[in-house]
Amino acid sequence: MPQSTISKTPKIQNRKKIIKLKLDFSWKNILLYGFLILFTIFIFTSFNQNISQPSSKEVGISYIINAVKASKVQKIEVSDTDITAYEKNQTLQATKESGSSIYTIFRDAGVSLDKTDVVVKDTTTFSNWLNILSSVLPVALMILFFYFLFRQARGAQESIFSIGKSKASLFNKDMPKVTFADVAGVDEAKQELTEIVDFLKHPDKYRSMGARTPKGVLMVGPSGTGKTLLARATAGEAGVPFFSMAGSEFMEMLVGVGASRVRDLFNNAKKSQPAIIFIDEIDAIGRQRGMGLMGGHDEREQTLNQILVEMDGFTPNEQLIVMAATNRPDVLDPALVRPGRFDRKVVLDLPDIDGRKAILSIHAKGKPFDSSVSWDKVAQRTAGFSGADLENMLNESAILAARLNKKVIDMKDIEEAATKVQLGPEKKRLQKDEDKKITAYHEGGHALLMWYMPNIDAVHRVSIVSRGMSLGHTMMEPVEHAHETKTHLLEQISAMLGGRAAEQLIFNEMTTGASNDIEKATQLARTMVVEYGMSSLGPINLNEDRNQYFEAKNISSAMQAKVDTEVKKIVDACYGEALSVLKKNKVKLDLLANELTKKETLDGDEFLALIGPKEKRKSPFETSKN
Ligand code: ADP
Ligand code: ZN
Ligand code: MG
Repeated sequence: MPQSTISKTPKIQNRKKIIKLKLDFSWKNILLYGFLILFTIFIFTSFNQNISQPSSKEVGISYIINAVKASKVQKIEVSDTDITAYEKNQTLQATKESGSSIYTIFRDAGVSLDKTDVVVKDTTTFSNWLNILSSVLPVALMILFFYFLFRQARGAQESIFSIGKSKASLFNKDMPKVTFADVAGVDEAKQELTEIVDFLKHPDKYRSMGARTPKGVLMVGPSGTGKTLLARATAGEAGVPFFSMAGSEFMEMLVGVGASRVRDLFNNAKKSQPAIIFIDEIDAIGRQRGMGLMGGHDEREQTLNQILVEMDGFTPNEQLIVMAATNRPDVLDPALVRPGRFDRKVVLDLPDIDGRKAILSIHAKGKPFDSSVSWDKVAQRTAGFSGADLENMLNESAILAARLNKKVIDMKDIEEAATKVQLGPEKKRLQKDEDKKITAYHEGGHALLMWYMPNIDAVHRVSIVSRGMSLGHTMMEPVEHAHETKTHLLEQISAMLGGRAAEQLIFNEMTTGASNDIEKATQLARTMVVEYGMSSLGPINLNEDRNQYFEAKNISSAMQAKVDTEVKKIVDACYGEALSVLKKNKVKLDLLANELTKKETLDGDEFLALIGPKEKRKSPFETSKN
């Protein structure tokens, strides 16, 4: 179904969680399955042994003696306690006591065995083995089974004795060095960390001044902004060992392991100071204590307490800096950020246009780019990308160019890679002509509204090629604004609803594909009311302070109802405007939809060539101030 990305910082949303049934063909599993199969076969065959042959007759031993006496038996087979006598057209089966001999039995009965063929099979050794095997095998299998189970439950490599040891990976001076030069676009953060570097290099300078030395630095920022990288770079700049461990690595199935790993980590680091201890993703353990209603929070609390204890225990002579990174500073325990602990906060933000250019130039090294590539344009186009996204994009562009057997990477490859990073890979989903037409009108609706609204930036690309979860997409040329105006926000909501408006106008029908648009539009409208104070309710923060565990309501339900009314008013007004704009420009919409059905993707220039230049006009929302 048609969906669009028209926000300025498009993120891939609704990533489907695919739960796959995975068959793991590692050697131990093959061994395990092999044993299971053997075991089944074994049990089956030992059952089978006790099933007598169909043509035979179960008799007493005296019956066989009589048969021999009557010379009806040609041959007797004895194996252990089983006696089989072969007559002309049937076999007789009997059992004797073990230990007694067939010859003795017949002699005692006074019957001669001279005329009969007697074969004594010596099966005792075989059956002995079978006996031993059948008693030992299940036990052995059981032991093996538990052994594998145990190993899998507990990270494979470590033995039971090292479970409380920290698994910190250590980077020391010999490792490939990361320095501040490898991190770009985060100049303020680097500035703050320079101080840390200086302290690690010249501790005496600070001590002689009586300054309290820094202990903990908390790095905060969205994922992919280079927190981990910057921590390593700090160690690289200072030339000290770097003990790195992720928050989740402290956790195991056994209680108390986390705390003992913390102790171990700090002890190791103390031995090789000056050093940096880095705890990545600290929110995994540093969540507010007492908040966890789910199980397992005891272990986390203990681990967190141990970290606090270790940090408090630093003597003034210690040259240890604890760095930690998180993208959820809001959930951290307040005790962590008290003075003397993680009292320094370094905030990393998504890079701005200059930052992106600098990051691009770092990661472009070693890749052959066509001389026509304009890094200014790339930096402009990638608003909202994190450092990791940019790195990923350049890598994708290189892969793309290589796949097409190109000598150099050109602008088209970069554009394709950027779209892929934003929206996921292209999917050659087979769309029926009917579906394609609906998608074309839906996306056309978005694009036309963006073109019409004076405050929205130029259309960057319209496409009905499915990517990720969406059937099509419309993107704007992203320009960063310092301020959002109410008019601009209303125009955006209108553009988000442009897809649905086009469906309604052209097909007098609605599709489920607009659900994502509607969700985003509603969300934005609500934010305008409750956060930005852009409604008749006035500049009051009406945000409900909700979280997972309790619901703190500081607004009355009467006010809540008013909020809902205001949200609806905004959405209705924007949708109405979208409909009227499309109605007025139906000729253009038809033209655009037709072209999209044919060419599938139009870039910004092609779009303008088709529709005409963006006109200067007054925003329809400028008058509707309420
Ligand atoms: P985080 O820890 O904040 O999630 P990472 O430090 O793991 O992010 O970043 C992942 C990768 O993205 C880095 O290895 C680097 O290649 C790239 N990267 C991220 N931010 C930057 C930056 N500011 N400068 C250069 N490269 C960056
Ligand atoms: Zn849409
Ligand atoms: Mg990280």
